[in-house]
Amino acid sequence: DTPRFHQHYQSQATQHPEQMDAFWMPFSANRQFKQKPRLLASAEGMYYKTTDGREILDGTGGLWCCNAGHGRRRIIDAVQQQIATLDFAPTFQMGHPLPFILAERLAEIAPAGLNKVFFTNSGSESVDTALKIAIAYHRARGEGQRTRLIGREKGYHGVGFGGISVGGLPNNRKWYGPGLPGVDHLRHTLDIGRNGFNRGLPQHGLELAEDLERLVALHDASTIAAVIIEPISGSAGVILPPEGYLKRIREICDKYGILLIFDEVITGYGRVGKAFAAQRFGVTPDLITTAKGLSNGSVPMGAVFVRDRVHEAFMSGPEHMIDLFHGYTYSGHPLACAAALATLDIYAEENLFEKAIELESYWEDGLHALKGLPNVVDIRNFGLIGAIELASRQGQPGSRAYDVFSNCFHEKDALIRVTGDVIALSPPLILEKQHIDALFSRIADAIRETD
Ligand code: PLP
Repeated sequence: DTPRFHQHYQSQATQHPEQMDAFWMPFSANRQFKQKPRLLASAEGMYYKTTDGREILDGTGGLWCCNAGHGRRRIIDAVQQQIATLDFAPTFQMGHPLPFILAERLAEIAPAGLNKVFFTNSGSESVDTALKIAIAYHRARGEGQRTRLIGREKGYHGVGFGGISVGGLPNNRKWYGPGLPGVDHLRHTLDIGRNGFNRGLPQHGLELAEDLERLVALHDASTIAAVIIEPISGSAGVILPPEGYLKRIREICDKYGILLIFDEVITGYGRVGKAFAAQRFGVTPDLITTAKGLSNGSVPMGAVFVRDRVHEAFMSGPEHMIDLFHGYTYSGHPLACAAALATLDIYAEENLFEKAIELESYWEDGLHALKGLPNVVDIRNFGLIGAIELASRQGQPGSRAYDVFSNCFHEKDALIRVTGDVIALSPPLILEKQHIDALFSRIADAIRETD
């Protein structure tokens, strides 16, 4: 019956465009989209298929999440079997086996010492969870005055009130009032190495980490709970940390007893060649927020990794007491756990994290060969992440990149992502050299055709 269900609703959607009115699409220009929709019908491996039957090469892993590619049989089977066996089970004061097993599996691939895992349903929820744990940790240790949170300009940490408060993207903040009190922001590192068509990490700009000393001097360490940073940011346009920057931030946090949170919602699960960017950069935070690649995007799920000693601070009260007053109805949902376990199996069996490392230099060369195309003002890369920055059209920031995106989708059969004037790429880790060649050649054509 599954195909019949699918065909029924698919033909309903495509034959009755007037039925596209009710869905208020997230982060979208709804009126513009509905004039010329982009609708995906199915997906397999490196490709999506559109409702009009075209095969679209996926240059973005969906939305930075389908690291193992699409339509993976193992995940399908796991989810199908799970829903037929146990569709839902509460995890408040009771449970089912899968989240326990999954958390152990995750602890095995996490940086040493981060052995506790809290489940959420998204990156935004993971961020709110980590921020709350950080503040509560200090309170549990008798330092309840440490409530201040430090994010970064241009940071993206999802769309919860916590996330937009520590985040630093003006469009995501300005509509929603003052946000959380007691939040401050480090300077961003975007301009470092920008316009230099730099390969990998910028070699200068380490001094920007000292900005944390400035904020400590301003607020006093005794008021600061945590610093949250994306090791590599995606949504703000792929911003790379200067060499040594993250290590220096870690040192300053240690000096003042401030917790360090890495938001690895996009860098987690192999994107930069290790399970986590923390491992690639050799810097261990106290908490890591993840989602997306955890379940290969198939069933919504997030996970927060917590350092043992942070967790330990919550375990000193009476045993009958709830130790953390936080959780979601769907924390450790059976379908999400099944999907994530199957996903981790695929990552391990196909060595996908290592494969990202192997392909990294080929990816880098192909990407940087786009230098010299019209309006390309910078190219950045790390792991299997790429950014092509275009010059802004006078008075219309983002419109040129949007036109390239639209051209890629409608004419070139390639899915890319744009954020502002930046084309951001994050392909499934299963890709081969031929996909890299095809992706860059299609993007190059679209850039040439865009004035
Ligand atoms: N944090 C980072 C670094 C992200 O890139 C994202 C999403 O792109 C989020 C948090 C939010 O994740 P979600 O959209 O699953 O809530």
